Amino acid sequence: MKCARCGSENVSVQTEMVGGKAKLRKTGCLWSIGRLCLILCTCGLWLLVGKRKGTNNIKYKNRTVCICQNCGNKWYLN
Ligand SMILES: [Zn+2]
Repeated sequence: MKCARCGSENVSVQTEMVGGKAKLRKTGCLWSIGRLCLILCTCGLWLLVGKRKGTNNIKYKNRTVCICQNCGNKWYLN
């Protein structure tokens, strides 16, 4: 790996997470009681549904960042 600006090989490669958007939902008292009822009514099936929904809310993309230790030049590989 060589820096495009100064030609130094003293470049650190890092992985950066971008585009991570977490939708924060307010979990009130009523919601937790309602959820508990749903879990009991569906014999725990609701827990699986809820988990799946929770993980889908956050999307992360990994980008490779190269930073030149010599001149401070920063660029992305992908
Ligand atoms: Zn450089």
